[in-house]
Formats: sequence, C-alpha cells, structure tokens
Amino acid sequence: MRIDIITVLPEMLDGFFNCSIMSRAQKKGIAEIHIHNLRDYAYDRYRKVDDYPFGGFAGMVMKIEPIDRCISALKAERDYDEVIFTSPDGERFDQPMANSLSLAQNLIILCGHFKGIDYRIREHFITKEISIGDYVLTGGELAAAVIADAVVRIIPGVISDEQSALSDSFQDNLLAAPVYTRPAEYKGWQVPEVLLSGHEAKVKEWELQQSLERTQRLRPDLLK
Ligand code: SAH
Repeated sequence: MRIDIITVLPEMLDGFFNCSIMSRAQKKGIAEIHIHNLRDYAYDRYRKVDDYPFGGFAGMVMKIEPIDRCISALKAERDYDEVIFTSPDGERFDQPMANSLSLAQNLIILCGHFKGIDYRIREHFITKEISIGDYVLTGGELAAAVIADAVVRIIPGVISDEQSALSDSFQDNLLAAPVYTRPAEYKGWQVPEVLLSGHEAKVKEWELQQSLERTQRLRPDLLK
C-alpha cells in the first residue's frame, strides 16, 4: 500500500513514520509513506499556501492552487482509491473504516490547517472526509498519523503475529481481554490462574468471557 500525505508541516510527520512499527512496515516493503510539503507546490516565491477568507471572516484559509497542483501531480502518476481530507465534520473514523481502507492500494490524505481549506477543494478533489473525533485540532497531521497507523498496522505482515491484530479491541465488536506478563506474582498481585495452566481451550474460553464481560460493562453499545 502507498499513502501520500499532503501537509504544511512535514517535519511533524517525518518522526512519527520513522519509528517502530510504521518504520518497520516501510522497511519490509509492505507500506510506502510519502510526505509532501504543500509549500513545494505553491506558485509564488514566498511559498504562500493560505489567504484571507472571502466574506471578512476570521482566520486564514488554505488556497486551492497548491493543493490542486499537488493532488494532480500525484494522480498523474497512479490511480488512487481515495483522496481523503481530515476534517472535524467528516465521517467518524473507526475500526471498520480502518479495515476497509487497509484493502486500498493507494491513498492520499490531505491535512487541513488554519481555518480550513477552500471548500471547492472538498467539492472537486476529495472523495472521503474523515474525523478522528468530536474535537478540533490545530491541523490534520495528527489525524493523518492516526488514520495511517490504524490502517497500516492491520495489513498482513506488518505486525509479526497476524493473529494479534485480529484479537485487538473492536475487531468482532468486542473489547480485548486483559494481558499479563512475568512475573506471575508481584507484591502479592496474581496473574489469573488459567493463563498459567497451559490449557489452550480453557485459555481461549477465558479470553472470550473476559472480552464479553468487559464489552458489556464498558461499551454495551458495541454489542447492539
Ligand atoms: N474551522 C474548522 C476547523 C479547522 S481546524 C471547523 O470548524 O470545522 C484545522 C484543520 O485541522 C482542519 O482543516 C482539519 O484538517 C484538522 N482537524 C481538526 N480537527 C480534526 C478532527 N477532529 N479530525 C480530523 N481532522 C481535524
């Protein structure tokens, strides 16, 4: 999978994608993350990407031309499954959406900034608008990182134990069971006996029961 992220703050994303599992996914050749500095597509020598809004409203608005140039250059090279805009009024991001995006070959994620982007970009270039939650961030970079991380980590081969991604919370609409590691006893606090039993069927049954109990208690809405 290839993800192209368009941003005015590439340095904010470089570090993130060069760490841990996101970095490994790229080294293994499973995911390609390309971060594009929108200012490289500006027309003027000041590399201006924002301007005052028509109507005299407060705040600055991202201009249409640099975004058009960048998206058009990318689309000339390959077909994209989705051109995503991160936006608080978009569709709420969740695990099913991450699962379905993880099947894509090529994605563009455009990060908004300032007051937002010229609405014509949303009307003519964007195929999907995604919000990561009901709050407003200063820019779309964190949202793009959240989306790319959730999408890439479930591509087979990214996490060494594939089973481990499938048993995470929200797959099957269930929260994950608790996990423990050594020592089996710490300050008198015990790990559940069944996990030390080596009895695979009983461990599986315990895991499912824990998942059901925790979902019922913490997120009953998922069971509906
Ligand atoms: N004026 C806009 C908010 C602008 S915030 C409004 O009221 O809807 C600046 C940018 O940050 C947005 O364009 C968007 O790209 C990003 N952003 C802010 N909150 C976000 C969220 N919850 N999910 C995804 N992107 C968000």
